[in-house]
Amino acid sequence: MSGILFIISAPSGSGKTTLVNELRQYVENLEFSVSYTTRLPRGSEQDGREYHFIAREQFQQMIENHEFLEHAEVFGNFYGTAKTVLQDAARQGNDLLLDIDVQGAAQVKQRLPEAVSIFVLPPSRTELESRLTKRSLSENVVSQEVIRRRLDTARKEIENYPSYDYILVNDRLEYSTDQLVAIVQGERARRSGKPPSPQEEQYLETARKCLKANMEDQIRGILATFDVPTHTAISSQR
Ligand code: ADP
Ligand code: 5GP
Repeated sequence: MSGILFIISAPSGSGKTTLVNELRQYVENLEFSVSYTTRLPRGSEQDGREYHFIAREQFQQMIENHEFLEHAEVFGNFYGTAKTVLQDAARQGNDLLLDIDVQGAAQVKQRLPEAVSIFVLPPSRTELESRLTKRSLSENVVSQEVIRRRLDTARKEIENYPSYDYILVNDRLEYSTDQLVAIVQGERARRSGKPPSPQEEQYLETARKCLKANMEDQIRGILATFDVPTHTAISSQR
């Protein structure tokens, strides 16, 4: 594709959906990929808006037809990004954002190494637990079993942080939104080949602080709450 491909991943409950919704308000010409999933719609979700909700047989057929750029099983359901979203974004001259899990992100990075990947961390395990509880209370589906499973999965997902380009700690929402905007605008400025404007310099400066290599010290304490040592799993691809 000709535009920039951004990938954002996070353990469930970290606030990724909230952050992406904020980003939509501040950045133009960024398309948000609508994935296919076999899970049922939640709350006010609408087919074609949050996801394309399809049956397992249909999903299987799409795999066999090689229609996916990537696909993965998450929490017992299938999720996938159709190749057509890349073509559509390129046709419109837009950049594209994929909100996908760590397995999907690894598949995309392998196929398209120039993609920019961002991993969102919660401030701690306790805060993640409280956000998961808060969200399930607001959806009227409090299940300790689901929350426990998501916390266990969170640790495994967080082990993959070293394969991402940027790390964003979603503590104060306004602050992390600014950082996310800076990463998108900074990458645009960096790849434009033009000298950056003063505003772009600021974006680049903020974005640089979020580069994984510059975040290791800051996230050590957060990783410890999940029993993940720094720089464990897969080494960086950048
Ligand atoms: P995800 O998409 O990562 O699963 P959500 O965006 O649904 O997470 O957020 C999970 C819960 O945490 C929601 O109740 C949301 O309002 C809350 N939340 C998101 N970001 C923050 C933040 N920075 N501070 C406090 N609560 C937050
Ligand atoms: P949810 O069911 O809560 O919307 O999403 C669960 C997880 O699936 C999240 O981590 C989300 O990023 C991931 N996900 C959503 N769409 C896709 C996709 O197309 N591919 C992959 N690999 N993961 C996805």
